[in-house]
Amino acid sequence: MGYVFRTEEQQGAVDGLRRYLADKADPLFNKEYRDRFMPKEQMGEFMRELSEFGLISGVVGEEHGGLGLDWLTMIMLFEEVAATSIDLSVPVLINSFGAQMIARLAPAHLRERYLPGLLKGELFCSAGISEPDVGSNVLEIKTRARRDGDHYIINGEKTWISNGSYSDILICTCRTGDDPRRGLTHFLLDRKEHPYEVRDIHKIAWNSQSTAQIFLTDVRVPASNMLGNEGEALKNTLTMFERSRVFVAAQGLGIARRALEEATRYATERKQHGKVIAGHQLISAMLAEMATNVDAARLLTQRAASMIEAGVPAEMEAAMAKYFACEAAVTIARQAVQIHGGNGVTKEFLVEKLAREAIVAPIPEGTTQIQQLIIGRALTGVNAF
Ligand SMILES: Cc1cc2nc3c(=O)[nH]c(=O)nc-3n(C[C@H](O)[C@H](O)[C@H](O)COP(=O)(O)OP(=O)(O)OC[C@H]3O[C@@H](n4cnc5c(N)ncnc54)[C@H](O)[C@@H]3O)c2cc1C
Repeated sequence: MGYVFRTEEQQGAVDGLRRYLADKADPLFNKEYRDRFMPKEQMGEFMRELSEFGLISGVVGEEHGGLGLDWLTMIMLFEEVAATSIDLSVPVLINSFGAQMIARLAPAHLRERYLPGLLKGELFCSAGISEPDVGSNVLEIKTRARRDGDHYIINGEKTWISNGSYSDILICTCRTGDDPRRGLTHFLLDRKEHPYEVRDIHKIAWNSQSTAQIFLTDVRVPASNMLGNEGEALKNTLTMFERSRVFVAAQGLGIARRALEEATRYATERKQHGKVIAGHQLISAMLAEMATNVDAARLLTQRAASMIEAGVPAEMEAAMAKYFACEAAVTIARQAVQIHGGNGVTKEFLVEKLAREAIVAPIPEGTTQIQQLIIGRALTGVNAF
């Protein structure tokens, strides 16, 4: 239900992936590993298998060894992953964007060394931007990379880093100069060769995969491990955000859609006052509102994906999709709990977990308030940050 249209090819790809996720991922993430950390080896198996369905491998062009899927198809596939498990969707998202950054920015020796493993789902990547004092304002990054001959020495602390404890490589945003905008540079760190310390963070939800603090103490990295040019990390990060926000929107959409599906099923099974609760007008109205918001979230998300595919600037549209879909997830998951009554707050039903997961969604990749500021700036030309 609820899509504009799909080509026969897209429908086939979505159906095949949906069957795989229902058989293999759903029982594991929503029962056995519900709120429990999944070891790297098992998560790695999912990455390898999902890569065969076009996840991760699809976001990179054939010239770099990827499948080069179009953005709309990628978003359709990614929605399926997020509707099955937000925890599974996070490493898919981070590895996808790590692969894209390496394909786009890395010198040949790094591309040849790391890209094939990432695209096959054999390597895990992290992207380290946030720090204890640096969240919404990336211009204030403090982690320092100091030149030392043909190396850089990196010192600092990153936090909230997805895939942190799984990571084989870290794309680390560092300060190489004092200019807030032109003083940031990306480096690729190989965990074995340029060791960094990782400590997992326990959260309200999203705990089956890793979100971590990363400590960098005198980490010595060759200058040739720079991604892009010195001082270009801000520009390259903002380009990435425009794209990755569409995927984060699809995460909100996935949570919202799953909450609607669970609530719809429950409403047609649970009886009160002599009939199924779906037969009470207030429940029916709530379901109608939820379904309309799920579809609105999908339309905004797919519009932004289509614009990116067409090469049209989509900063505002990506922000709208992220803002709307992630806030819709919070409201819809809460409504799904309400429709479940007391059962909704027990561990026996998925909506309890979805409600906790939804609360997290409006924070990463730019909070709701940051998306609103981006939209406002695009509308008025006035920066209200
Ligand atoms: C599950 C999870 C995964 C994450 N993964 C990664 C990752 O892989 N890599 C990474 O680098 N980071 C990651 N992050 C970090 C994430 O990007 C930040 O949490 C986010 O950017 C917000 O920063 P902050 O938490 O420091 O909040 P703050 O920036 O301190 O914001 C606090 C509050 O103030 C509001 N606010 C801030 N500035 C303004 C303003 N100008 N006007 C109005 N309101 C404002 C915010 O909207 C928010 O409500 C992750 C976070 C989470 C929760």
